[in-house]
Amino acid sequence: MPAAQPFTPAHESWSWTDDVHAYEVARDPSLFDVAASIPPRPTGGPGRPAEHPMIVYVFYAALAGGVVGSCTKAAGWIRQPQHWAWLKQVWAEYGIELRDNGPCRRTLANGLKAIRPHVPAMAEELRQTTLELAQMIGICVDGDDTSASPNRRNTVVADGTVPATRIKKSTYQKRLENPRLKKDGTPYSLPDARKHVEGGGHEVLGEKFVLLEARLSDERNTRVILDVRPCPSSTPGGEAAVATEAILDLRHKTKKLHSAIYDGAFHSVNIDPLVKAGMIVISPPHKGTTKPRFLRKLTKCQCGGTHDLWTVRGALCVQEITDTGDINYTMLPERKVTFNADVNDYRCYLSARLPCGWLHMERLDSTRADAKTKFKRTEHLRQHPPVTPEYKDKYGWRSDTESTHSNLDRILYNNRMIVDNVIDQQTILIGHAIARNAITRTTWLVRNAGGTAAAAA
Ligand SMILES: [Zn+2]
Repeated sequence: MPAAQPFTPAHESWSWTDDVHAYEVARDPSLFDVAASIPPRPTGGPGRPAEHPMIVYVFYAALAGGVVGSCTKAAGWIRQPQHWAWLKQVWAEYGIELRDNGPCRRTLANGLKAIRPHVPAMAEELRQTTLELAQMIGICVDGDDTSASPNRRNTVVADGTVPATRIKKSTYQKRLENPRLKKDGTPYSLPDARKHVEGGGHEVLGEKFVLLEARLSDERNTRVILDVRPCPSSTPGGEAAVATEAILDLRHKTKKLHSAIYDGAFHSVNIDPLVKAGMIVISPPHKGTTKPRFLRKLTKCQCGGTHDLWTVRGALCVQEITDTGDINYTMLPERKVTFNADVNDYRCYLSARLPCGWLHMERLDSTRADAKTKFKRTEHLRQHPPVTPEYKDKYGWRSDTESTHSNLDRILYNNRMIVDNVIDQQTILIGHAIARNAITRTTWLVRNAGGTAAAAA
């Protein structure tokens, strides 16, 4: 039987075997926090008393979704006498008492079902506890309240992902058309799923989730998954709306979150509230914005003349006619983005140099007049349009979401979601976040405490 402590990586080159990873997850503060958000079933109350403390089921989800990648393997790991004895010893230090024998697979599966009503509370707790982790390692802690050119550590990247269903698309279709019956006469259950078209036109059958994350630096294992939210088909505005709400929520928790990066699924309806919340949004404008659009005639310039202002792919431009009679659109130089605090929110301005030499200020968040004319300001005027160095430097940070999604696929058995029910899927993703973040936490403690994670805890 292993003693309680020796599995902590002593240095960075320690390899993250499943056992090492599982032992770190078992002692991760986020695991305890998320488990504590589930009320224990009272022994004298209605329903059967819980067979095991709630942390057992959350740990099961974290192992299955973030370490070993399957429910069977996770149950097997927990059931092994030496692992169970180790958990019993470690969790006793936190005042959690375990029975002498570990749960069987069916008990764990039923536990996952029993905690379904508490998944929203678990998700909220995950947001709290992961923000604490992020701030502990240096994400969203410094900088001005608003920042025109945010650092990586003050930036959140988000994207939707659709883990493929446990069964293949063809099997799903067959069972849908011709329900096969089990020996007891009941039909095989079908996983919760919808068809989604991913980037590149690739069709995936599954449930969609939005993941939010931030990263301290280019250094390995400095990523924190901050939020996991489902995107039910009924959500107006879909994935982008869910992401917007999640980012706003995070911004309300910390003003040190300065910017958000999202793919082309972000429309003005998503960007505007974030800009008004004082944030920078970096996201590619739609194809339609490539065609020059007349913004307005500037009649009150201090030079005494007038200027026609245009927008092209998010940039504020002026028209220039060349010697040969061609029309060019030139982005106004010396761009500077600033925020002014309003009563309830922020106003965002662009200052840029006109051809006459005077500076011009243009609002970048929507105005009351825009509402009347239905002008989608945040679609046509971007804080950092694609031609700017800021966009070119920072949009690439979005690739972190792709690594996280491919990491999730790689861990999950057969690269497929391992549970069918959509709420259980969210539980597995919450578990995945806990398990991935445990690597970040341990790595940080090892790097910064100069010793083992357990010694630093
Ligand atoms: Zn002028």
